[in-house]
Amino acid sequence: MKVFFDVDLTLLNSSGAEWVLRPGAGEVLAGVVRLGHDVYLWSATGQQHAQRVVETFGLQRWVTDCLEKDSNPTVRPDLVVDDDSFLVEKYSGVCVRPYREPDPADRELYRVLEAVTGWDHPARMAP
Ligand SMILES: [Mg+2]
Repeated sequence: MKVFFDVDLTLLNSSGAEWVLRPGAGEVLAGVVRLGHDVYLWSATGQQHAQRVVETFGLQRWVTDCLEKDSNPTVRPDLVVDDDSFLVEKYSGVCVRPYREPDPADRELYRVLEAVTGWDHPARMAP
């Protein structure tokens, strides 16, 4: 599966002077890759912004590619992770609470691992 992560307010808080990576981001990207999927970062701010975030936080080894958010992407997501429900409804995926304030106790991204595991093994999704 191609799992697309949004950057701003999903993986990153950039409201202050410094960029803050959301807690668990590296671990969750690594986990998604370990489950056999490809991780993409995409951003409405542009491909370069996503690329800069990857380099700033040393996420290269888990990220297949960075893309600009496009309504008609050349690589199509199988699952998206976004703070914007519109894209999650369009492609299916996980809508996360916007990461508006740096918060070391935030655990929102870990829901992605549960969702990806569930997608992989539909039986686990059964009640
Ligand atoms: Mg966003």
